[in-house]
Amino acid sequence: MIKKQIILFGAPGAGKGTQAKILASKLNVPHISTGDILREAVSKGTELGEKAKTIMEAGELVPDEIMGGIIKEVLMSEKCKEGYILDGFPRTTKQAELLDQILSHIDLDYPVVIELNVEDEIIVHRLSMRRMCSNCGYIVNLESLENQDVCPNCGAKNSFIKRKDDDEAVIRNRLKVYHESTKPVLKYYEGKTEIIIVDGTQSVEQVSELIISKLS
Ligand code: AMP
Repeated sequence: MIKKQIILFGAPGAGKGTQAKILASKLNVPHISTGDILREAVSKGTELGEKAKTIMEAGELVPDEIMGGIIKEVLMSEKCKEGYILDGFPRTTKQAELLDQILSHIDLDYPVVIELNVEDEIIVHRLSMRRMCSNCGYIVNLESLENQDVCPNCGAKNSFIKRKDDDEAVIRNRLKVYHESTKPVLKYYEGKTEIIIVDGTQSVEQVSELIISKLS
């Protein structure tokens, strides 16, 4: 049986969001993106959003205690009973420890960790080409579009905007934070659970096929 408790791990821009959506629909479990949760809070202007906004715009990490609280609420909810795809969490060893504590209440097993491996320079290029549709939130790479003026998801015209944290200086800081604070999380899971490493530079379809074949 395919394991449905999954952490998608990798640098910003490695393709976690894209693969998480595909996997979530194939396995019929929710896609939990902490970045999306925070962006929604920012756009709604909630207390959490107020705290997170400047941190996110600088490419830094929102404090572990706040993130632990968010993820606890989501994972304890009914929708995650059959499984979950975590995208963007845990991002520090402390968050991995908090996750262990939460899971020990609801699910004794460790999730499988899938690492999408992509070199930094490819990431900088990818993220500088990334746009978000301001109408529906769809994420695209401009280079993959035949018509760069129309959103392929909702059909809106001239709706693409660049996320503030996709500016090159911020991208480089996010990569620095990734190498310093997030990459060590893999070491934390070594020997505790299965870690599947996938070459994330292949096409979206190839990466998702590889993940499914390795999961089964
Ligand atoms: P993402 O969309 O996953 O790249 O996340 C966008 C931004 O949200 C990150 O650069 C962080 O500032 C913040 N963020 C998302 N998830 C976390 C997390 N698990 N811990 C701390 N900050 C996070």
